Amino acid sequence: MDLSRQSSIILSITILTTFASFVKSSLPQGLQTLNISSEITTDPNITASFATDFGNLFNRTPGAVFLPSSPNDIATLIRFSYTSSTPFHISQRGLGHSAYGQTLVPDGILIDMSSLDRTNYSRINVTNGPIPYADVGAEQIWIDVLNATLKHDLMPRVLTDYLSLTVGGTLSNAGLSGRAFMHGPQISNVYELDVITGTGEIVTCSRESNSDLFYAVLGGLGQFGVITRARIALEPAQKRVRWLELFYTDIKVLTSDEEKLISTGNSLSGIIDYLEGEVLFSVTQGSLTAFKALWHGSD
Ligand SMILES: Cc1cc2nc3c(=O)[nH]c(=O)nc-3n(C[C@H](O)[C@H](O)[C@H](O)COP(=O)(O)OP(=O)(O)OC[C@H]3O[C@@H](n4cnc5c(N)ncnc54)[C@H](O)[C@@H]3O)c2cc1C
Repeated sequence: MDLSRQSSIILSITILTTFASFVKSSLPQGLQTLNISSEITTDPNITASFATDFGNLFNRTPGAVFLPSSPNDIATLIRFSYTSSTPFHISQRGLGHSAYGQTLVPDGILIDMSSLDRTNYSRINVTNGPIPYADVGAEQIWIDVLNATLKHDLMPRVLTDYLSLTVGGTLSNAGLSGRAFMHGPQISNVYELDVITGTGEIVTCSRESNSDLFYAVLGGLGQFGVITRARIALEPAQKRVRWLELFYTDIKVLTSDEEKLISTGNSLSGIIDYLEGEVLFSVTQGSLTAFKALWHGSD
């Protein structure tokens, strides 16, 4: 068999497999004609890797995974479903740290937001000035946002404690850390969003403009649109901090002390910039030493 004939047979088989998967998952055929079709895969190895999340409670395989290279691509997909006679389910996923299947979309199309990070233009842009902010792609993770802003001696007002979560993922929840007692959750520290709505329109929204959409999307668990850009409030980054760690055996005393530390009128209020508590189970002297070593090294 000559090589060109062999490759045409392989090509035909590939197309047939893809077609069969689409029929099986009832996704509309017209998808194949869109200019984004090369970014949609039904490869079972890929779809299977998007069937669960961090909670690992459910296994729901999407019919296809969409790897967009721009926000416009996402708008095209959503518009196609909206105008189709057989609309299909679409969900978006940051990095899947959800615990209860929030990103899963059995037989629908799952948008892998992280593929936007493979664009050849910067998706984190910092603007310094009287009111500093960063325009950030929703697929970016907070540690990268922090590192980019630190180059300007700035930082997001509120981060998450764990920094490998995506901007779009935490803004669809709340976004909490030891700074939230000062500034509220992350969703209270956003100036503006670009959102792709359920009709496939790209809309810029803020407190002043399209505010219904703005407030619906923030904390909206991805039900009101796909965030593609967020304008995040920044503030000057401190160069040095003093870090105190206090161990308690009584939770009531711990929470009452925490309240005192952050309450207005307390002499320490305004001095404490970050406050968090953790519960350590079955603590022994050995596990306490291991815990301290994890946070501080072996001092
Ligand atoms: C190890 C670990 C540590 C954590 N630490 C913290 C913490 O310190 N502080 C805190 O507040 N939370 C924390 N969380 C919870 C976390 O904020 C949420 O679980 C959230 O799921 C973020 O994860 P993700 O970025 O991977 O988003 P995903 O889990 O992928 O998505 C979360 C939700 O947002 C939607 N979504 C994702 N991207 C977009 C988008 N661009 N537009 C619209 N909707 C979108 C999804 O559909 C889904 O409903 C933690 C979770 C884990 C597993």
